[in-house]
Order: sequence, then structure tokens, then C-alpha cells
Amino acid sequence: MPRVTFPHVGESYRAFKMLMEDLGNEVIVPPRPSRRTLDLGVRHAPEFACFPVKILLGTYLETCPQGVELIVTTGGVGPCRAGHYAQLHKKILRSLGYAVDVVVLEPPRLYPLDFLHSVRRLNPHRLSFRAIYECVRRAWRKLQALDNLEKLTHKIRPRELRAGETTRVYRRVLEWVDRAYTMREIVEAERAAAEELQKVPQDPAREVFKVGIVGEVYVLLEPASNLEIEEALGHMGVEVERSIFLTGWTRDNTWAETHEVLTVKDAALPYLPELLGGHGRDSVGNTVIFAKRGFHGVIQLAPFTCIPEIVARTILTRVSRDFGIPVLTFFLDEQTGKAGMITRLEAFVDLMRRRKGP
Ligand code: SF4
Repeated sequence: MPRVTFPHVGESYRAFKMLMEDLGNEVIVPPRPSRRTLDLGVRHAPEFACFPVKILLGTYLETCPQGVELIVTTGGVGPCRAGHYAQLHKKILRSLGYAVDVVVLEPPRLYPLDFLHSVRRLNPHRLSFRAIYECVRRAWRKLQALDNLEKLTHKIRPRELRAGETTRVYRRVLEWVDRAYTMREIVEAERAAAEELQKVPQDPAREVFKVGIVGEVYVLLEPASNLEIEEALGHMGVEVERSIFLTGWTRDNTWAETHEVLTVKDAALPYLPELLGGHGRDSVGNTVIFAKRGFHGVIQLAPFTCIPEIVARTILTRVSRDFGIPVLTFFLDEQTGKAGMITRLEAFVDLMRRRKGP
């Protein structure tokens, strides 16, 4: 059984682990990124590498000593460095003595043969296509359940009566989804988990601000990389709506661009007609859409040195002016501290309160 690992991206490892095991792999679950992960990544990655690259390298350096043979990751298309990073990781890990290989899942609609070849490598049980389809269907449903529950916490947390209660319940119910295996169990676990979250005592009359979160995909999806900004905002009475979830991102990169993606592109068009790579154009388009939907503010999360988000940042100044919506940008790297972030968030919430008036 090949020993396989993959990047830690929020709670998605729960679905991905199930899928990899079903296909016949032994999974080394990546730990949640910590200070140690970052230190390892920073020590061995080139200094100019983007922040997600350092975190991912640190994660691999934590799992490789457990005998990992294969790392499964996604590729990148468009004018940005993302497409090269899997090879960079492989070279660094090999130079450190780890005999690992990397399987890069490229978008099947662009590279169908590469994708099939990767699936074959990850299928040591030699399951039929039909059996693989069933495994993917269950993993996909689990991923949807995880995304749906996370979205629910974004609504409940700013209204909770006891600080921290939503997060406590969320941590507990995630295990229910984790243990669910059949399609029926997954659906049932999601339903029970949502009900449990709804039981968190809430103050429906509380003044809540709505803030859209845009930016680069990894720092949006992995809370450890953004210092749990969504949770911090929830505790300040802010309901966040994140522009990217893993199910949406996977869907848009697998088969065809959906209506949502095209809407975001259209919204960005007057400001940015070109593909920047990464999620720069999406950051602009989603900010326009959040503004039109009447949100009180937008927060952009960008890895330090991320070119697409740096370009988007300059354009967002104009979007902010045109639509009268405050936009706050965080450039994240290993030096970013939580205390400084909280101070800026508090000032941002104050700003939204003043703009709203009595
Ligand atoms: S999108 Fe930004 S952070 Fe991601 S690889 Fe490209 S430049 Fe780096």
C-alpha cells in the first residue's frame, strides 16, 4: 500500500483521506499547520517563495519522516508561479533525503490524459471506473457537508450569546461527519450537525456587519494560514461570506466554468480584462459583487509577494472608491502577528459602524 499525504486545507482532509483510503492507499494525515510547520518551511524554501509554498513544504517535512512515498497536490494554470511549486517541493524534499514522488492533479478539462494517469497512480486497488466514481461521489458529498457546516458557523458565530460556543460545537460535530462513511451516513451526519449548531443560543437582535472575504485560495481556505481571521471577525459581530470554498473551486477547475465564475469575471471586466493568474481577477470581481449586494466591507487576504493579489490590491482602491465600500488588505507571511491583525480588524469594524451611523 503506497503511503500518501496531501496539503492540509481546512477540514477537507477528512474527505480526501476517505477517498485515498478507498482507492487503496495508506494515508498519513497532514497535521494542522503550526509554528513548527512554518519554521520548517521557511528554513528550507527559497526566501522569495510565496507564503503557501512555505507552509506546504513545512507540512510535507512533518509527514515525510513517517515514510510518505507520494504527495498528492493540485497544479496551477495561468501566469503565476503556482504551476511550478510541486516540482520545487519535490526537488527540495529529495535534496533533504526523502524519496518521495509528487502526483499533480491538473484540471481534467485542460489535461484529461494527465489527469487519468494521476488517477491510475492513486488507485493501487485497481478499482473500476465505476467504483472510482462511487468513491469520488461519497468524498464529494462529505466535502459539501464540511463546507455547508462551515458556512453555517459564519452565520451563527457573530450572534452567539456565549463567546466561543459555536466553535466548540463545530469542533464536536465535525467528528460526526468524519466518522460517516456511506452516502446515507454522510447526509444524516450533516443534518444532525447542522441541527446541533442551530441550538447554539443566539441573539437575533444583535447588530451584525456583513463582510466579504476575497483573496488567494490557500490563505482563504486554511485558517491556520490566516490566523483564524474568520473566527476573530465572528467574535467581533461580523458575519463573513468567503468567496471561495473548496467544493466551488474544485467544481470550477474540473469540468466547466460555472455561471458563478462567469459572473465574477463579468464583474471584474471594467477594471481588469486580463487573467492575472492565481485569484487576482476573482478578488476584484467578487469585491464588486459584494459591494452591489450591500455588504458593509470587504477583506482581501493575500500571501506576501503574491503578484496577482498585489495587482488586485491596486485595483481594489478604485473599486472601493467607485462603490463606496471599505476594503482592508492583509498581506500574510511568517512575520504576521495575531495581535496586530486584531487591532486592524477592530479599527475596521469601528469604521463600518461609523459609516452605518445610528
Ligand atoms: S497565486 Fe500568489 S501565492 Fe499562489 S502561487 Fe501564485 S503568486 Fe504564489
